[in-house]
Amino acid sequence: MSDTLFTKIINRDIPADIVFEDEQCLAFRDIAPQAPMHVLLVPKKPVPMVSEAAASDQQLLGHLLLKAAEIAAAEGYGDAFRVVINNGEKAGQTVFHIHLHILGGRDLSWQNG
Ligand code: AMP
Repeated sequence: MSDTLFTKIINRDIPADIVFEDEQCLAFRDIAPQAPMHVLLVPKKPVPMVSEAAASDQQLLGHLLLKAAEIAAAEGYGDAFRVVINNGEKAGQTVFHIHLHILGGRDLSWQNG
């Protein structure tokens, strides 16, 4: 299978504004930010979407959520941020490599998304 866009970013084949990295994940700024903070957090393991994650991915998925909170805090938005995961094309997913959108810095009313 060919590398996903995010695997190419993880491998430094495509440039990105990286804000965090550890052995399990990489975080970088979204190229089309929807809020003053819009960071994408991706696992280095290329799981396509949450609904295709396995029981063995449990630790990884928890790790991502904990790191999302740390990244939001490091960006100065630890008190109010939103984490979004689009699962499937009809839900708006365009890159089939799990990623958490970490958003903050504007009014995040629920109805307006
Ligand atoms: P989704 O629609 O949930 O699959 O999210 C994919 C996200 O990837 C979108 O918010 C895009 O703006 C973002 N994106 C696409 N290409 C890049 C890139 N080269 N660098 C950073 N973010 C990107």
